[in-house]
Amino acid sequence: MPKQRVVIVGAGFGGLACARKLRKSSAYDVTLIDKNPYQLFSPLLYQVATASLPEDDIAFPVRTAYREVKFVRAAVTGVDTATKTVSLSTGRTISYDDLVLAVGSEGATFGIPGVAEHTLQMKSIADAREIRRSLLRNYELVEDEVLPIESLNVVIVGGGPTGVELAGAVRELQGEIRREFEAIAPQASVTLLEAGPRLLPSFHPRSSEHTAKTLTKMGVNVRVNAAVVGATATSLLLKEGDEIVAGTRVWAAGVVAPPQWKFLGETDRGNRLKVQPTLQLRENVWVIGDAASVLGPAGRPLPMIAPVAIQQGKYVARQLVRRARNESPEAFAYRDKGQMATIGRRKAVVEIRSWLRFSGSIAWLTWLALHLAYLSGGRNRTSIFADWVWNYLVWTPRRTITE
Ligand SMILES: Cc1cc2nc3c(=O)[nH]c(=O)nc-3n(C[C@H](O)[C@H](O)[C@H](O)COP(=O)(O)OP(=O)(O)OC[C@H]3O[C@@H](n4cnc5c(N)ncnc54)[C@H](O)[C@@H]3O)c2cc1C
Repeated sequence: MPKQRVVIVGAGFGGLACARKLRKSSAYDVTLIDKNPYQLFSPLLYQVATASLPEDDIAFPVRTAYREVKFVRAAVTGVDTATKTVSLSTGRTISYDDLVLAVGSEGATFGIPGVAEHTLQMKSIADAREIRRSLLRNYELVEDEVLPIESLNVVIVGGGPTGVELAGAVRELQGEIRREFEAIAPQASVTLLEAGPRLLPSFHPRSSEHTAKTLTKMGVNVRVNAAVVGATATSLLLKEGDEIVAGTRVWAAGVVAPPQWKFLGETDRGNRLKVQPTLQLRENVWVIGDAASVLGPAGRPLPMIAPVAIQQGKYVARQLVRRARNESPEAFAYRDKGQMATIGRRKAVVEIRSWLRFSGSIAWLTWLALHLAYLSGGRNRTSIFADWVWNYLVWTPRRTITE
């Protein structure tokens, strides 16, 4: 029997989990396509943005990861389900018997004027590098009187885990930088804006309250019910009329699936393709991770988080193997293992169930251990562990090169 060709688009959490599980199957030839030659570990992007980790540590090289999987570096520009082919930015066309679309998501600006032009996103290594450059370089430019003192202010929009983690880390960075820029550093500030009534809206209200209190104690200005209606080259404008002047403006207020794939089927408000309970769009097309809209037990779409993508990637691989053995398909069932967010050093909130919650140092250690466990590649894991020991235990100010 000739092997069936499985093409996986996207070597992120979902695509890589699928390829890893399918690679040993004698029934399939697996091709993995990604525009980047690495898997990005987005949960630690904020540590790259705040000069805590080098960018190589959160990028797992996929080309050489699995001998049995063919890797193609290119952007997929089109899918033709009639001819069962995908077209690539390089001009090449690749045929498939089964297609797994695992293309992730992108930042959403909700069409708010000025946001796309005047705020920084945090979705890629290039974005994190840009935030780090702005955070650090502004100190030098203010010291040289090229920029006004308000340029040291940082404003972060979005009170979800990404916004919370970044706000805490920026505040800690501002504290460490004080000794290098003694005259100006005390005037630096961080403001975290959330349009809704509380931070971490998907967590228990007590965790939200604890997070807001902890951030405030660290010196972050937390503002809830603060909807942003516009951005300029120097500020953010709030619905109630306030203008917040800041040299670094980061937009962490939501993500949507890439609109490019909407033609393939029905989508939800976040451009996510609505798939069947088996994650199929049609017979030979599967959609997983952030790009898929799948209803959870509460009747709401599953969240756009890494564990969902990983479980879906493994599930699709399992179904393909079952099909090759003439076994009947299973329905996808998500196992919710809880949620967590770090607030700063030795500060985090963890929720396993709504009644099983904890915070503080134990939560923070749990967060560190789980993130190490989820990382791909022994080299990245060892390197991050060494960096964390240095940053957190030795407590030396971080040093980084500012471009
Ligand atoms: C800053 C940040 C922090 C986060 N923190 C957490 C966290 O703490 N915990 C958590 O669970 N989740 C977190 N998430 C969410 C998590 O990263 C996503 O839910 C997860 O990455 C989704 O996996 P995926 O496989 O669907 O997509 P991704 O992992 O994003 O992978 C998509 C891949 O597809 C590739 N791709 C896209 N389009 C194309 C194309 N046209 N052609 C070729 N390749 C393409 C991309 O290059 C990428 O490699 C965070 C996300 C961000 C941005």
